[in-house]
Amino acid sequence: MDYTPTQSNRKLSITQRIRRTVNGLGHTHTCCICGKSFFRFAKFRGGWANFSQYLKDVKWTGSDFDHFWCPFCKSHDRERHLMLYMDRLGLWPSITGADVLHFAPEKWVIRKIESLHPKTYRKGDLFPSREGVEKIDVTAIPFPDQSFDWVICNHVLEHVPDDRKAMRELLRVLKPGGHAILQTPFAAKLETTRENEPDILASDDKRIEFYGQEDHTRIYGTDFFERLKQTGFNLSLKRHSEILPDIDAVKFGVNPDEPLIMATRE
Ligand SMILES: [Zn+2]
Repeated sequence: MDYTPTQSNRKLSITQRIRRTVNGLGHTHTCCICGKSFFRFAKFRGGWANFSQYLKDVKWTGSDFDHFWCPFCKSHDRERHLMLYMDRLGLWPSITGADVLHFAPEKWVIRKIESLHPKTYRKGDLFPSREGVEKIDVTAIPFPDQSFDWVICNHVLEHVPDDRKAMRELLRVLKPGGHAILQTPFAAKLETTRENEPDILASDDKRIEFYGQEDHTRIYGTDFFERLKQTGFNLSLKRHSEILPDIDAVKFGVNPDEPLIMATRE
């Protein structure tokens, strides 16, 4: 791939340099974004061992916390997985000349999209921290109906109190025939989404234990997909085992249980 990698060593602390040196040894893992091979990906918050038994019991599916950051380009596992899915499905060319809306945009996905020269590329976040990202509330998107060929909104809905309103807004701004990428963590063994639980919402520790993160407002069950359909999306789930059967998930640092959650509008 044609991404420009590698953060300068001069910006790193001594601890970060040591970690990069150790993680950078060997060739057992490979980053599909920067192309480097190395000893291991860095863990997120100490890896799965530090997450609750509840989240493991309900098979909470999203990021791969044990193989999270690339030690060289700092890509996240979910960026790498999205790149692999989009590559394999041959979807990137349709970005060229398209109108694209991207929420909570990921660094390497931004670079890829920009390299494809979309007609318009609007990037939004409720709390923008990156240059070029506008303050946009996903529950009140400030664009006319049917404005975008592509809407990308990854790992956002689990943070949004009124997620159904956000889904309606995402659908509203999508053109007929347009594509939405809606990567969202969900519990594969939980049928019904857990939300509106005041005792959990009132405590960071309980949110982390039951919802996975202190700023999550729910843990989606498998009814998440029904919620998207009820909004009016045509859902198209693509599974790693079907689309990327030759990609060794551990070697490439992606979660093989995370599907590509793609939806279209008629
Ligand atoms: Zn990398």
